[in-house]
Amino acid sequence: MNAAELTLPFQELHETVPWYERFSSFFSSSDLAMDLGTANTLIYAKNRGIILNEPSVVAIDEETGKAVAVGHTAKEMYGKTSRAIRCVRPMKDGVIADFEMTTLMIQYMLKQVCRGWSLRKPKIVIGVPCGITQVEKRAVIDAALCSGISAVMLAEESMAAAIGAGLPVDRPVGNMILDIGGGTSEVAVIAMNGTVYSQSIRVAGDEMDEAIQRRIKKETGVQIGIFEAERVKLILGSALPFGKTRSITVFGRDLATGFPKQVEIDDELVRDALHDPIQAIVSSVMAALEQTSPELAQDILARGIHVAGGGALLRGLTERLGRETGIKFFRAADPLSCVVRGVGKIIDNLAELKTCCIA
Ligand code: ADP
Ligand code: MG
Repeated sequence: MNAAELTLPFQELHETVPWYERFSSFFSSSDLAMDLGTANTLIYAKNRGIILNEPSVVAIDEETGKAVAVGHTAKEMYGKTSRAIRCVRPMKDGVIADFEMTTLMIQYMLKQVCRGWSLRKPKIVIGVPCGITQVEKRAVIDAALCSGISAVMLAEESMAAAIGAGLPVDRPVGNMILDIGGGTSEVAVIAMNGTVYSQSIRVAGDEMDEAIQRRIKKETGVQIGIFEAERVKLILGSALPFGKTRSITVFGRDLATGFPKQVEIDDELVRDALHDPIQAIVSSVMAALEQTSPELAQDILARGIHVAGGGALLRGLTERLGRETGIKFFRAADPLSCVVRGVGKIIDNLAELKTCCIA
């Protein structure tokens, strides 16, 4: 989104909101919840729902150091900018890969949703990756405080995903959640509002895209861009074969001639490319089960494992995970918004769910 587009949803919102609600929002702006994902950032506002859903991408002017675009607009610029503008995915390699850019992105997005007149500054709960360091926590908190927020609480994304998936996290039962995002896959065991075990691996959607990119290069000698590889995954990607073979045309550069070239790719090649990333995710689930106490493992076996994050949308993935592990896997409803709905529930019921926060 660029600065002009960013204001639109809120103008539209104001046009549809009756005058008395606008008047009351002057006295009490909505508290917020944010999913700071490696691929997508989402913001939820109390009583309003999800008000922002943008790729976690920043386009930066190299000379001034200022953001020229954030979100969809910045993602569209990826690989197409002049030298003066650099597109960054600040969270790409798992946790916070680029500290300054993450801060800039949080500020940019929060300032857009905190626009307008209000006497009361909102509070926020931000979902952060499990492996976040103290320094990174501080940076996230400071970025939010600089953007018109009065108080910041942090919650682990896997806890938020479990709440978003409707799991009984407050009860003395073992809940296992697997969140397959862009940069990382996180597997966690949650019971009584606490994380009993969590493990994050840097194999998720991005690694799947890179595996497809590598495989196409090896098979055809054509180098494709990373978003083209993601497009291939979204259209043809699957973890198990499904009937008739399907194929699409992909565009790239012939490494032998250096010229643009298009090649036909089928779903079998893509499935083959996804084999290793999927096996890495299976191994992380198996490792988590090995580390879980027999009592909690018994609950997990009985209740199954819930899968959130965009990776959960890969065709046949839950079935494949089930076959490999012998445990039932369930795809969470709307896996891409699971974490933000979870942190949203925390902000909506702060008195009861505050204990789910880590800072
Ligand atoms: P994060 O929490 O790290 O921001 P998300 O949960 O938003 O990540 O998931 C983003 C990832 O999900 C991307 O790698 C994207 O390509 C992948 N994804 C989205 N939809 C699908 C789909 N239908 N099939 C496979 N992967 C998908
Ligand atoms: Mg996520």
